[in-house]
Amino acid sequence: MNPVRQIAFGYSTQCNIRCGHCVAADASPETAKMDFGRARDIIQEMAHCHVTGISFTAGEPLLFFDDICKLIQLCRENGIYSRIVTNGYWAKTREHTDRVVSELMSNGLSQLRLSYSRWHQEHISRENIVHAALSSQKHGLDYFVSFVTDFSKEDDSFEQFLRDHHLKFFPEPVIYFGRADEFDRQRVSTDYRPNVCSMNPYLSPELDMFACCDGASRFSKTHFLYLGNLCNNSIEALFRKSETHVLYHLIRTMGLTSMASYLGFKSREIVQYRKCELCEKLFNSKENLSILTKSATSGLINWRR
Ligand code: SF4
Ligand code: SF4
Repeated sequence: MNPVRQIAFGYSTQCNIRCGHCVAADASPETAKMDFGRARDIIQEMAHCHVTGISFTAGEPLLFFDDICKLIQLCRENGIYSRIVTNGYWAKTREHTDRVVSELMSNGLSQLRLSYSRWHQEHISRENIVHAALSSQKHGLDYFVSFVTDFSKEDDSFEQFLRDHHLKFFPEPVIYFGRADEFDRQRVSTDYRPNVCSMNPYLSPELDMFACCDGASRFSKTHFLYLGNLCNNSIEALFRKSETHVLYHLIRTMGLTSMASYLGFKSREIVQYRKCELCEKLFNSKENLSILTKSATSGLINWRR
């Protein structure tokens, strides 16, 4: 049976706003854009490799509206589920928003994901998010609001706004990478959860493929999440690498908590990490990575109930 293959597709890292928490800002300060013809070829190749879902993300995809429309059309022709992650800058009036949503739908878009947070909304009116959600409902386009939050009281009014407008939303914890690296963090103490991660691959405009979207260029000491570049690897080869890598497999199944415990982290310490921080602690250390790699198929794999 073929594994489920989905990918975050970074057509361009260009964005029209500058959110204080942006994870994408971890990458190079220069913005990059994929060649349109190359993007088309890649999507065709992904279809041959049984990719079933593509999420257009990175910077703000709809800055390249015409290109993205053609790319989602191509997804539809190839039976690929398509999603656009957008900050909603374009949804200024109901009339204009209706036109944009209707055009996205006619090109075959499957889902719109609207980014919303107290950082996004320093630049974009909250009303834009309402317009985009209502137009999606009107035209029958699946949508949801991704409510990025650090779970502080400051965010209560932002959440209430979504509830007051009856919008479908899901809280998304801030990841303390990129610009958010500088943020003060509230101390957390979770229960002893497994910290399993599904690891969705990410393709950058420079054609670098990573095993996960959120930590893409982050693990600079070990490059643990880097799969390779499409200039010298096929898409099939890089997906295979991601699917057969033994430590990625353990992140998806065993979870980070057991791996940290195996390495000797105190339980009291483990419960104070957020998931991606724990992941970085484990795999952005050459020493830890070497121990986990050596023991992956022996001691580590048996470190379970
Ligand atoms: S979080 Fe999204 S909308 Fe905000 S600056 Fe980053 S890419 Fe742009
Ligand atoms: S836990 Fe690790 S693999 Fe999963 S999203 Fe965070 S950085 Fe990526």
